[in-house]
Order: sequence, then C-alpha cells, then structure tokens
Amino acid sequence: MLRFGTSGIPRSSARPGTVHGIRRARELGLDHLEMAWVNGVKMSDESADAIREAAREHDLTLTAHAPYYVNLCGAEDVVERSLARLVETGRLGARCGAQSFCFHAGFYGQQSHEEAGDKILEGLRAVTKGLKKLKAGIDVRTELTGKPTQAGSLEEVIAWAAAVPGVHPCIDFSHRYARDAGQHNDYEDFAATLTAIEHTLGRAALDRLHVHISGIQYGPKGEKRHEPLVETAFRWKELLRALKDLNVSGWVVSESPAMEDDALLLQKTYRRLK
Ligand SMILES: [Zn+2]
Repeated sequence: MLRFGTSGIPRSSARPGTVHGIRRARELGLDHLEMAWVNGVKMSDESADAIREAAREHDLTLTAHAPYYVNLCGAEDVVERSLARLVETGRLGARCGAQSFCFHAGFYGQQSHEEAGDKILEGLRAVTKGLKKLKAGIDVRTELTGKPTQAGSLEEVIAWAAAVPGVHPCIDFSHRYARDAGQHNDYEDFAATLTAIEHTLGRAALDRLHVHISGIQYGPKGEKRHEPLVETAFRWKELLRALKDLNVSGWVVSESPAMEDDALLLQKTYRRLK
C-alpha cells in the first residue's frame, strides 16, 4: 500500500498545529502527513503524545523532515550541532509515532565526494547509535538532494543505507531530475531507479519506501524551485506508473506548493492505475 500526504499541515486546516492538520488530512481523504520541521524542532513531549494519539485515531501515518541546518560533512562544530539536531528530530519523531525522518546530509564544499561521504557515514553511525541509546525506533533517511553541490546522489544514498544499519534512502524523484538538469524523467528511468534500490538494499526497501514528489524547476545548478504538478515538465504520471508496476509500498509526500491539491491529485491518479 502506498499512502499519500502533504509536507506540512494542509493549507485548508481551520487551525494551526499538527493535531488539527492530521484531522484535516483525514477529512480530505489523505492517509499520511510529513511533519516539516525544516526550520527547527521545538515541541514538548506532551504535544508529541497528542500527535501520536491523533494519528492513531485517524489512521494517518507520519514522517518528519529534519531541519535544513544540517551538514554532516562541514566544520567540526557544525557537525556536532547537526548530530544533536538529528538525534532530537529522531527522538521527537519516534515519540510522535513517525516511522521515518529524512534530511539533507550536507554540502561537499571543497572536499572530494569520497571525503564528504566518509564524514557523512561517521555522522550516520553516531545518529543511529544515539537513537538506539534512547530506544527511539525510527528510520533514519538521507534524502536524494536537488543540487549537485549537495551530498546525496542516488548512488550515495543507496551506499550509505547499505553501509549503516538503521539508515535508509528517502527518494526524491523530482530532486533526481533537477539535480541532473532534466535527466531521469521517464518511465524506464523511474523503474531503473527503483530496481537499483532493490538490487542493493533488497525487496524490503521497496516494501517500505519514503518518497518525495513535486513539480520542480531546474537550471544548470540543479533545483531552482518547487512548482505545482500541473505546471511542471517533470513526468510524475509516469513515475506513479513505475511505483505501481513495481508494487512499491510506503509513503509518498507531496512537496508541491499546491499542498493538499497535489497530494490528492497524486493519490487519485495513482488509484486509477490498473
Ligand atoms: Zn528535503
């Protein structure tokens, strides 16, 4: 089963807050929500418990997006703060009942991809160790990123997941397309991406996959901005067909500025596929 939801609470929520967002998502017929903690995460344990209860009551699955201010291959103090943010995201996410959280691993800067990758692996081991200590059961997912200056190509996120137990990929197909300036934009390529994941990480990776989809604009430096699905050249319908044909299960998060309209469009289009 593939569940669809928005990144952040639906725009049409009558009131702010994740609990109301969960109710509104269910009213709309969505069955997932990604908590967009991209500007930081501050929440009491009581609030987290209320979110967990609301999600259970409304049969909504949850994921979280960690703050953007994370760089596992930056300067030492930056890495240290990043590790603390990631462990806190994982702890709170697990307390909310989220099954997965994703984040952008960092920027290559002047380093070679290998050098950056080694630091990221070290960071990922520290994050999973920290969460284990807290008994926080949640997938740690490095996201496929939208710019070639950002660590997180398809090959990298697969390799990191293969190397560190508890780490998995978050596959943002729109980022993959934008990162490589308009490549990876047809059914064959989407299916090949999924097959590559299965080849290295096993069928279980496709039975529980964290996916991001949005309309997107790109330039020579990759991702420029997200845009509504109706406006984009990204072939999201072919992507849905590949997800269906390869029988992928998990969570599809719409990161479109059209929020719930596009999450519902993805869900409706997917459900019509035979
Ligand atoms: Zn992201």
